[in-house]
Amino acid sequence: MSGPLVGRDHERQQVYTAEDLSGEHTVLVDPREIVELRQILGQLQAQPWWTGNFSAEPITLVANRSTQQSSFDPVQRRISLSPAATDLNTLAHEVTHAAVHDRNYREAPHGPRFRALHVMVRAAILGPESGVDLAEQYRRFGLALGRLPGVETPGESVFNEAVYRNQHIAGWPGMNTPAHRGPIAL
Ligand SMILES: [Zn+2]
Repeated sequence: MSGPLVGRDHERQQVYTAEDLSGEHTVLVDPREIVELRQILGQLQAQPWWTGNFSAEPITLVANRSTQQSSFDPVQRRISLSPAATDLNTLAHEVTHAAVHDRNYREAPHGPRFRALHVMVRAAILGPESGVDLAEQYRRFGLALGRLPGVETPGESVFNEAVYRNQHIAGWPGMNTPAHRGPIAL
């Protein structure tokens, strides 16, 4: 389809909402120390799935002072997290921007291939089920997943899948039942 929306990031808000819904009441939204998130990021980047598909150059991780925005800077190869969003949900989102960058995909920042990679990054952190749950939310919002020729599904995850599944099944209320957070991830 062609038209004025092509190339613009018009699905961004829907992506945020789908992502928030799929993370609710899970370990994805538990606040974590930056040092722990750095460790998780390092483990993710050590996976064969990562090294086989994306740049080996380490991604650095810092906290910023924005109450609103987290981002990935491709020049410095740095993820910057809002203090309000130091969690796996936001880490996975920003890592996905890095993955899109490494693959040289040209599309709107939160387009179909971003979303397909996002599902994989979730799976690479917390196991297949967390990826499937995100894919289901994208489907409900009518947000297609792009085809990613040559990128295989992650074969392992940073956390044992039970970490995600147990909390999910128990309907764990957590300490941080999300109020609507607004756009904290760019
Ligand atoms: Zn984003």
